[in-house]
Amino acid sequence: MKLCSACLLGINCRYKGDNKLNQKVLDLLGKEMLIPVCPEQLGGLMTPRNPGELNEGRVIDNHGGDQTNNIVLGITEAMKLVELYDIKEAVLKQKSPTCGCGKIYDGTFSGKLIDGDGLFTKALKEKGINVISEEEL
Ligand code: SF4
Repeated sequence: MKLCSACLLGINCRYKGDNKLNQKVLDLLGKEMLIPVCPEQLGGLMTPRNPGELNEGRVIDNHGGDQTNNIVLGITEAMKLVELYDIKEAVLKQKSPTCGCGKIYDGTFSGKLIDGDGLFTKALKEKGINVISEEEL
């Protein structure tokens, strides 16, 4: 059993109101249970919403709004699922300021990627959870 970014399973929870359904994740679902979670929605952010990028530890949207508090709240809720289901591994969406694993946007909304993790990935790794992106499946 693994935790999984909900957008990778076809849930329309992305900032644009769409999803990032991923065939490799669907294939994995045929072999084991995946628990879908979207910390941004769990924290009360609207869908659709402005896109955010990580900038000095905070998630700032493209109009200067600070989404960090909502996302931290969503991470707290998602961590309850980690405890309830005794989760040890997660498959999360690459490049997101929340779920990104290894690569995230640089905070300038220019499409430039840098090495780094989203806030949810960081929190999971601090708890010893093994996190991989859908690209690593
Ligand atoms: Fe997908 Fe994670 Fe962004 Fe939610 S927060 S839309 S699950 S990448």
